[in-house]
Formats: sequence, C-alpha cells, structure tokens
Amino acid sequence: MRIIIIGAGPGGYETALLAAQRGLDVTLVERDKAGGTCLNAGCIPTKSLCRSAEILENVRNAAGCGISVPQYGFDFKSVMERKDAVVSTLEAGVMTLLGHPRIDYVKGRASFKDSHTVSVQSADGRVSEYTGDIIIIATGSVPASPDIPGADLPGVVFSSGLLESDVVPERLCIIGAGVIGLEFASIFSSFGSKVTIVEYCREILPRFDQDIAKRLRQSLSKRGIDFRMGAQVSRIASSGGHQSGALSVVFSRKGIEEQVEADTVLMAVGRRPALHTLNLDDIGVGYTLKGISVNAFMQTSVPHIYAIGDITGGVMLAHAAVMQGVKALDHIMGLEDRTDLSVMPAAVFTMPEAASVGLTEEECKAAGIDVTCRKAFFRANGKAMCMGETDGMCKLLTDSAGRIVGCHIYGPHSSDLIHEIAAFMTMKASVDDIRRMVHVHPSLNEIFRAL
Ligand code: NAD
Repeated sequence: MRIIIIGAGPGGYETALLAAQRGLDVTLVERDKAGGTCLNAGCIPTKSLCRSAEILENVRNAAGCGISVPQYGFDFKSVMERKDAVVSTLEAGVMTLLGHPRIDYVKGRASFKDSHTVSVQSADGRVSEYTGDIIIIATGSVPASPDIPGADLPGVVFSSGLLESDVVPERLCIIGAGVIGLEFASIFSSFGSKVTIVEYCREILPRFDQDIAKRLRQSLSKRGIDFRMGAQVSRIASSGGHQSGALSVVFSRKGIEEQVEADTVLMAVGRRPALHTLNLDDIGVGYTLKGISVNAFMQTSVPHIYAIGDITGGVMLAHAAVMQGVKALDHIMGLEDRTDLSVMPAAVFTMPEAASVGLTEEECKAAGIDVTCRKAFFRANGKAMCMGETDGMCKLLTDSAGRIVGCHIYGPHSSDLIHEIAAFMTMKASVDDIRRMVHVHPSLNEIFRAL
C-alpha cells in the first residue's frame, strides 16, 4: 500500500515514519522545511527563547536564594543564535529519520490532480505526479490576519517575524491574549521590552478555565505586562513618521478610544487552516472555513483521503496532530483504535506556565455536568517553596462518581505536571486513585495529593 502524506510538520512526518516502520511505502511532500511551523517557527524556537528568559529571571532573582550576581550580560544575538542552533539540530534529526528506505521525501508544493493523484511543483517550476492508495493531508495552518487598517505597516509582524528579529523592541504591543500572545509577552517582557497586550475578550486565553486564566493574568501583570482587556482594535497608525518607525495601536473600550505606542506590533489573533492551494473542490473533499471536515478516524468525505492536525481546524496543537496521525494510520491498516483523543493536555509556556486537560468549569456548567471543584496552592507545597516559585494553583474537577473530568494548573512546571492527571484521566481513574498513589516527597506533583 502506498500512502501520500502532504505536509511534513509533526503530524505529517511522524505519521510518515510510523507508516514506514509498519511496512507501508510513503511519499511525503513538503514545500518548505521539514518540521513545519512547530519546529521552524513555533513550539521549538519559542521554547528555546523561554529558556533564555527563564535563566535571565533566575539571575535577576538569585539574591533571594543567597547568591549575588554583581554583573551579568544579555546578548540577544547569542540568544537568537542558540535558538537557531536548537532548531537546526532537531531539523537534522528529522531529516535523518526521513531517510528511512520506505519514505520518499519530495520537496515542492502539492495539490490534488484527482483523488488518487497529487501533483507537486518544485522550486524550479518542474511538476511531478504521485499516485497513492491513501492520501493524508497534514498541511497545517497560517496566521489569521484580521481586517485592521494598518496591519500591513512595517513593524507589524506575526510570531514568525518576531522570531527573526535582530533587536528586542523597546515597546512591544501584542494584539491577542491567546497562547501565542502570552508566550511572546512573557519572553519579551523578560528580555526588557515594555509589553502591552490588547485583547478583544474580557479575559485572556478564552478556551482556558477562566479562574486559572484570571489568576495567570494577575501574575503576569505583576511582572509588568500591561493588559488592555475588552478592547476593539480599530486601526494601527504610523505615529512618528517614516524615520522613527513608531506605531500606534488604536482601540476602544466601553466606547472610549485609547491608544498604545509601540516599536513593534505582534499580531497574534489566531491561526486558520492552510486550505486554499490544495484544489479540494475538484476532488470532493468537504471543508468549511474552519478546516477540513473529518470523522472520528480522521477520514474526510472521500474515504481514502484523511486529514490530520491544524488543517482540520480543531485543537491546533502539534501533539494533537501526531496522535491524530496514529488514529488515522490504525484505521487505514484495520488495527484496533486505542487512541483516546478526548484527553488532550495543553500548555502555555509563560512564566509561570499554565496547563490544562479535560473540561473547564465553564464547559461543565454549560453541559449540565454536576462537578466538584477542588483547589490546591503551590504556596503550600514544600518543593515549590524550596524553588522559590510559590505563585500558582491547581484546580481539579470531578463528577458525582469522583471521576476526574478536568484539571487546570498555573504554576511551576505545569506543562510537565499535567501529564499525571492526563494519565489518570486516560485510565478513567478517580480522585481517590490519585490520593492512593505514592508521590515522591518533596515534589511538585504532591500538589495533586493535596486536592
Ligand atoms: P488563540 O486563538 O489562542 O488566541 C487569539 C486571541 O486573539 C484570542 O484571545 C482572541 O480573542 C484575540 N483576538 C482575535 N481578534 C482580535 C482583535 N481584532 N483584537 C484583539 N484581540 C483579538 O490564537 P493564537 O494565540 O494566535 O494561537 C494560534 C494557535 O496556535 C492556537 O490554536 C494555539 O493553541 C496554537 N498554539 C499553541 C501553543 C501551545 O500549545 N503552547 C503555542 C502557540 C500556539
């Protein structure tokens, strides 16, 4: 059986590798760099910058642990070089994996010729055709660009632009307090930018548990990030003429017009599926503006064509794409479906981090699920106290039978901690099971025993 996979992001390349390891022949088509947005302009470069920011904060706060650092330097160029080196090393690793003898890696832009044939145009204009029994679309997403006058001015960038910046902007205005906006706010605030976030909604992270979102916002505010919530952006204007490059973000709140001056404006108002170059209409694959429609096995309206990852418009997370690929491949090969995509942990890599799995309290209320809400605080956790990172809280939601339906955390290492609860939820465990499990003392994970 030959499978064609379009897109070599985490969803595409990991599925290609798994298929090859299982003995299938794979053609993997990628127009840009292997690793997709996650590796080249998303998860990985931002986490490298997060680490630099974390070290900077540790140095600044070292006195609290009895260590004086009379002199330290911050070299943004070196920070960016380290980020690029991390990306290159991982990319080389991906390319080595893609050297698998069953994978034919093709560079170029793919579009459907018919439902079994993909035509690929390479950079030099040559067109080749590939035929497959099964095709998996994994073409990801692109940044959404809202219809705001001035959004095309120099100095207004998407996250990929800021990741290539030569300088730390003195004043950074971020439009959108979602995951991307907050991660960049946290990083650049540590690097010394004066960060202002302008957000349309009344609270940050609209899809997160709002209790946790509010506390995280307060925590980030204490670090100097200025939040302008409930703000309707009307335009971005060039405020200092061409020479200064200064920008004004103009918005209204409760009918009153305000503006924020900035050197750089980051547009972080969501992402949309990369649908339009695939020629889907001609082959009958159903889609909406939100993405390609799929069933529980990631199958599109054309049964031998599957779609995984951001292109399906669901949860836009690299790990979701990877596990959707496993689900699709199991279905293609007639294997038992053992992947539970309903337990989907997510994390926000701010300082402190936030993480979440399962339903939020608001979703439980809307669905009429009677839940008990338990809370525990890092200020009562011995390890957090020793680390000097007591800012944070964990919130666990259980149903009337005591089963865990959701968990939401902000605080140190939340992105790691959340996996314990994800594992319990996958095993359909109860809050009693957590209490009976032996936890290392002292550990951050003990916070779950305190719930
Ligand atoms: P998002 O959907 O998380 O947040 C966008 C925010 O912009 C929302 O709060 C929205 O209300 C606001 N907004 C939209 N239009 C606006 C306007 N005109 N003015 C002011 N505010 C406006 O989107 P994102 O942060 O751009 O991230 C895109 C995708 O990438 C998300 O699906 C996210 O989950 C994913 N991502 C995940 C991670 C991670 O898992 N750590 C990191 C980065 C990105």
